[in-house]
Amino acid sequence: MLKMTDPRTTARWLVDWVERGTWRDLPGVLLPSDPAPMPERGRFTAMERLEESARELGVVIYDFRGMDRLIHYPTKVWGYFRDKTRGKNIPKRGRARGRRKWKNCTAVMLHRTDVEEMGPHRFLGTPCHDAVANDASIVLCHPHDAYIMGGHTANSFAVHLELSDADGELLELQVAAALILVRYVHEDLLAHRDRDVVMMAHRQSHKSRTGDPGARIFQQVGVPAMNELGMRLGPVVGSGTQLPDEWLLGLDPDTSPITLT
Ligand SMILES: [Zn+2]
Repeated sequence: MLKMTDPRTTARWLVDWVERGTWRDLPGVLLPSDPAPMPERGRFTAMERLEESARELGVVIYDFRGMDRLIHYPTKVWGYFRDKTRGKNIPKRGRARGRRKWKNCTAVMLHRTDVEEMGPHRFLGTPCHDAVANDASIVLCHPHDAYIMGGHTANSFAVHLELSDADGELLELQVAAALILVRYVHEDLLAHRDRDVVMMAHRQSHKSRTGDPGARIFQQVGVPAMNELGMRLGPVVGSGTQLPDEWLLGLDPDTSPITLT
């Protein structure tokens, strides 16, 4: 399913990209939404369960994991990503820097793009492992053991999930898609390492991202996923900061933050 891109959208996206970087948090008091029921475990793989859940929701999965990041793709479909040149739409930071040991992949980190109009194809050059696009489609960008430059000090251990959003508010369908995506990542990590996987926000790993992904997204995606999957909150690393209590509204009181050891 390929969608042509309106040039006006591309222009707006470019402007947004240049102007991005505030990650201003917006206060939110939305209650977490009810996650959809978990598909039956057992004989199905994590990927099969993700596909089944996506079918039920009616969202498309784009799998870009095998795509070469060193070549240029048609800009009408894939857009002009970075470096302000039409000849190069995959920026260096959109490429994986090798692989990590699975035992070191310990966290799911939520992000928001802080850019509107992020359709699925834009994520080919975005430094994240997986994403939920503006139309709620799910995008698989890199294997979860890939080293991706998406979260500052957390890059050595976090799986980066980007949610297409500019104002801290997701569509209901995006929230549902994000929840099945977190389940998939969580299950994939546990399949490779049998220890705790923690939840984190980009805010926890760099001082420039205090509103990333913001109160609303963390309440709607982070907290329900933590409650359902028994995930604890990961540590503050580098120049990051603690999450405000508001972000954790609705968190099961048994879920205590994890400290770095
Ligand atoms: Zn981020």
